[in-house]
Amino acid sequence: MPSALVEQLRAAVRDVRDFPKKGIVFKDITPILSDPLLFRASIDLFLERCRGKNIDKIVGIDARGFLFGSTVAYELGIGFVPIRKRGKLPYMTATAKYSLEYGQAEMEMHTDAVTAGERVVLVDDLLATGGTSAAAAVLIRKAGGDLLEAQFLIELQFLHGRKQLEPTPVTSFLKY
Ligand code: AMP
Repeated sequence: MPSALVEQLRAAVRDVRDFPKKGIVFKDITPILSDPLLFRASIDLFLERCRGKNIDKIVGIDARGFLFGSTVAYELGIGFVPIRKRGKLPYMTATAKYSLEYGQAEMEMHTDAVTAGERVVLVDDLLATGGTSAAAAVLIRKAGGDLLEAQFLIELQFLHGRKQLEPTPVTSFLKY
């Protein structure tokens, strides 16, 4: 993809200070979603990275991972699996705990969503501390999935989230 387009994507990410709480700079990707050229470009970044890898399923993380992940899965002609915060999925689930700044949280995936040996790519909008996606990786592996890679539109490198995901390869397109 032309670097000018990547720079346009970067410029469209809106910093919102003190959201959802004081001290956090929230990276708002809605200006990308609402612009047809930029939305397509953001999906194309994931697609370029996914093609030729013989992927069976895209797993997306609640909630913005659904927007990118399901569009990528549609375009690749493969299945999409949601990983959600505890209590949101209706059927039988497997659960993985992870640490938040204060306390713990849990992510869940349906027990029949990924089957043993399936080749899976994990997608989310943003990698921060890595706790959420590391929990998602645990769920995929517990189900017997072959987690090829975790892909993020944005990576906050100063938080070293990719360390939490080791040994999963991590790809991000806009680094801060
Ligand atoms: P973490 O578990 O710390 O890597 O957090 C990743 C999850 O929280 C992702 O699903 C992101 O959508 C969200 N998130 C964390 N920090 C931010 C931020 N500064 N801006 C936007 N979303 C964030």
